Amino acid sequence: MSTTNNNNNAKRKQDALNYHSKGRPGKIQVIPTKPTNSQRDLTMAYSPGVAEPCREIAKNTDDVYKYTAKGNLVAVISNGTAVLGLGDIGPEASKPVMEGKGLLFKIYADIDVFDLELNTKNVDEFVNIVKALEPTFGGVNLEDISAPTCFEIERRLKAEMNIPVMHDDQHGTAIISGAALMNACEIQGKKLDEIKLVINGAGAAAVSCTKMYLQLGVKKENLLMFDINGLITPDRTDLDEIRLEFATHRTDVSNLTEGMKGADVFIGLSAGNVVTAEMLQGMAPNPVVFAMANPEPEVSYDIAVAARQDIIMATGRSDYPNQVNNVLGFPYIFRGALDVRATAINEEMKIAAVHAIAELTRKPVPEEVNLAYNTTNLRFGRDYIIPKPMDQRLIVEVSAAVAKAAMESGVARTQITDWAEYAERLHG
Ligand code: NAP
Ligand code: MG
Repeated sequence: MSTTNNNNNAKRKQDALNYHSKGRPGKIQVIPTKPTNSQRDLTMAYSPGVAEPCREIAKNTDDVYKYTAKGNLVAVISNGTAVLGLGDIGPEASKPVMEGKGLLFKIYADIDVFDLELNTKNVDEFVNIVKALEPTFGGVNLEDISAPTCFEIERRLKAEMNIPVMHDDQHGTAIISGAALMNACEIQGKKLDEIKLVINGAGAAAVSCTKMYLQLGVKKENLLMFDINGLITPDRTDLDEIRLEFATHRTDVSNLTEGMKGADVFIGLSAGNVVTAEMLQGMAPNPVVFAMANPEPEVSYDIAVAARQDIIMATGRSDYPNQVNNVLGFPYIFRGALDVRATAINEEMKIAAVHAIAELTRKPVPEEVNLAYNTTNLRFGRDYIIPKPMDQRLIVEVSAAVAKAAMESGVARTQITDWAEYAERLHG
């Protein structure tokens, strides 16, 4: 048995390496979008023809959107300090992930990506490099940068740049799990402003998810947050302000097991296999459990549903129902932001994405989505609290909601007026 497993593992590894190395190494390339067949084409693509758009842009900087790829180009930028669950493996080793992110942007939202892996852990240097890249890009997706550096880098870039900047590990997860939380609570008959919520983990993802849940109506006094050293309380001296913001004043809880007693919701953004069936059994009736540590969740799907028949369970894994997967969000959040030339991705746009994703889940599922997942019965309920990544409706629903929110909150530099035409265009 274990020899078979070892063989399967070895084969999976080799398959993944072959996938990346076969043919042209890597996963993405640059493709011309204009004719290049004749000498005449080339005189327009490059000298002397290219001088004309250069002159126009020199006169009016905004024309860069008219004559170049800037408006559809996103930088996926990392320094390789928190790559997947692999940790600080360095910028070169992060490149397959960043190319992969580029691939996802392209196939889901037709957004082009340059992936940039920076050889620096210094906040000032990182910020200065990215700021200097503003002329090239329509937006910046920060990726796999470790906490707490990621908070400062994002804060400064948002303040100092005039194009949308989003650290997807923080906000993507917050948006998708926020939509899932709204839906799960609705199904379980719980109100967001009443739920008792336990968050295990106090890293980049946990902090931004918690902030989002508060915006969605969860009450701070109903939160308990734990890190590897236990409950976050005001008297802890080992914590920064970002985490102390979530400190509880409850004094009757000393560990996670006690914290989970009577809780309505457990959010795991920590490490694999740290929650037991007994801990789940101590939760309130109809509990909601999002065990999102990757690749191993805080508690496995099988253990959780065996422990509690009344549970709604989500993980980060694609091999079980209710996968909390950022790909439901980032392609369309950037699509909507780019399409109105937004100067930022602000809270209003993120909340609009949450509601669009939550509401789409409640609509009847088209046959082609069922077919794509080899099922016949996807329907809003316990095992379907968020849409599936291959749902073609996402691009219209989420991008339009984000673009609208950008316009209404005053960060859009162009306006969409004909939404039916916009939807048509997104369907391609
Ligand atoms: P991070 O910044 O490294 O944070 C990890 C946090 O978990 C830290 O606060 C750490 O405590 C805490 N922790 C570690 N082991 C713990 C334990 N046994 N009990 C309680 N707390 C523990 O990482 P991150 O980016 O926030 O990601 C956290 C996890 O969520 C990872 O497994 C990641 O893969 C997963 N994640 C999943 C999704 C998804 O499903 N879509 C999205 C984002 C992240 P200290 O601060 O004391 O070290
Ligand atoms: Mg990531």
